[in-house]
Amino acid sequence: MADSPKERTEIVNLDQIMTDQQIKEERWTFTALSEAINTKENCLIWLAKRRLIKNSCKCINCHQPASFISYEQGIDGFRWLCLDCNIRKSVRDNSFFGGSHISLLQLIQLIYCWSYDMPLDNIIHETKIYKETVIAYCNFCREECEKYINRHGLLEIGGIGDNGEPIIVEINEPKQFKRKYLTCESCWVFGGKERHSRKGFLVEIPDNTKASLTEAITKHILPGTHIESRSIAAFANIAKIHSGIYSHSVVKQQVHTTNVEKLWMRAKRLLRRQFGSSTIQFSTSVNEFLFRNSIGDGHIFGAVLIAIAEDYVV
Ligand SMILES: [Zn+2]
Repeated sequence: MADSPKERTEIVNLDQIMTDQQIKEERWTFTALSEAINTKENCLIWLAKRRLIKNSCKCINCHQPASFISYEQGIDGFRWLCLDCNIRKSVRDNSFFGGSHISLLQLIQLIYCWSYDMPLDNIIHETKIYKETVIAYCNFCREECEKYINRHGLLEIGGIGDNGEPIIVEINEPKQFKRKYLTCESCWVFGGKERHSRKGFLVEIPDNTKASLTEAITKHILPGTHIESRSIAAFANIAKIHSGIYSHSVVKQQVHTTNVEKLWMRAKRLLRRQFGSSTIQFSTSVNEFLFRNSIGDGHIFGAVLIAIAEDYVV
């Protein structure tokens, strides 16, 4: 044994592991991505660099680093093995990819396609994965985005800006959306958007009464915010909520609330498409939209990878 070469206990050198910023700044095309992950080993290297699978693995028995061993008959081509204890672990252990029999190449391609909002049929065509599995993984991706939004408090907007001034949040009158899209019989959708950033929220509320709106406002808009709205009775006492945690001004023309209107118009497009063929929850679908909206198109694939890596700490 003393003569055997030192076994590999890391997939990549530690200095090759990427930061969130580096992941976010990458720009992939489908072709370049497929080339980068064209072998089983390259898939594992690609994933380890982005913290989506373990880069090293300790033996659960002796706590020594396990070896990264070729395993031709396995779907991933490699596995972790403690040579002393003969204990094995899948390279997918604890990862987003655990428990699946789909190749890592296909799953990475699927995440890419979903990130760029490809229609279901195109994802099935590009990845050659069965429809039911594609739908399941698209939903997993959606859930990761939703968890990211909640972890980072992206649905709480406004407050005091870095310059010490109140952040301006525009809110709109609640809108009724077609009932079949909503979880309750007669729900309304209410939204707000920071005027000078991408941050916004859209939520279901049970009715358009002052009580429901006040509850949604205090849940999603931080104290210190300056709120702008049109003049409707339900918004009349915003400046008095909790003895005055917000300032409020009424804008006369509808044009002042166009930011939040636009947010809602764009969300509706996504909702209409998704609800044509599935049973995704309204809030999950809206949160997917808000995640995409907060990131901006160019960075979306990296943002989804970061969301996954944060949730599955390998
Ligand atoms: Zn061991």
